[in-house]
Amino acid sequence: MRVTFYGVRGSIATPGPSTVRYGGNTVCVAVRTVDNTLVVFDIGTGARVLGDELVAAGVLPAPIHVFVTHAHWDHIIGAPFFAPIYKKEGHVILHAMSPRAESSIAKGVLFDGEHFPVRIADLPARLERPPFAGETMRVGSATVRCIQLNHPGGCEGFRIDDADGSSVCYLTDNELTPPAGLVSAPTDLTRFASGTGLLIHDAQYMPEDMPAKRGWGHSVVDDVLALGRDAEARTVALHHHDPWRDDHALDLIAAHARAWCRVHAPAMSTLVASEGLTLDVKP
Ligand SMILES: [Zn+2]
Ligand SMILES: [Zn+2]
Repeated sequence: MRVTFYGVRGSIATPGPSTVRYGGNTVCVAVRTVDNTLVVFDIGTGARVLGDELVAAGVLPAPIHVFVTHAHWDHIIGAPFFAPIYKKEGHVILHAMSPRAESSIAKGVLFDGEHFPVRIADLPARLERPPFAGETMRVGSATVRCIQLNHPGGCEGFRIDDADGSSVCYLTDNELTPPAGLVSAPTDLTRFASGTGLLIHDAQYMPEDMPAKRGWGHSVVDDVLALGRDAEARTVALHHHDPWRDDHALDLIAAHARAWCRVHAPAMSTLVASEGLTLDVKP
């Protein structure tokens, strides 16, 4: 599978000179399966760039499979600026992997005529919103599975397993050790991510951010790396960066994570996700 990061920032977009290397767009990750099916995880502001690329490449009649973790603004705000929805040859399928997601998608809040001038019924593209039909589904050559995450208001994480044996896990927003309301324990998440080639996980905080941000629904870098080690992930991509973290601060996190791996998980590699980064995930 080929994974490209179009947005890696959490909470709010952070344009400006201090974030230019890692990028300021909010979360959006595209995955191409071995049969070239396009799967998109989250449609934050990074989805605008992805949409423009798809239109320019002339690939629109092929369906675009969108999986949104939850409806917090940073994960959906790119939708009105996703160019394929304004093309009549565009075909977008908005998947619901839980009853909560199904009802959230049905509201179409961004296209209600109040939050954005265009209403959902007026979009030229073919927009499908199939009803919730279970926590596993086939998408092209791959299978997508879902797990509930620890995040205020609810959130889903996804795992995609392709026909060639490669796999990617997309787990954001998730607090691995929340003070209350645990939905999926670290052991559940370890099992879910077991043996994955690439674990993309929310790593918004450093140990020194705690305890002030306990209960906010995001994880500490060290806990994310421990999850990757326990799941025997080949690579961990730290994702959903704090908007107050500039490029230098993210360089320090990258160095901290590499040092952690040298001591605790020498076989695992780690990186800080950056906008435009493409990774080929092998079986
Ligand atoms: Zn978020
Ligand atoms: Zn959130």
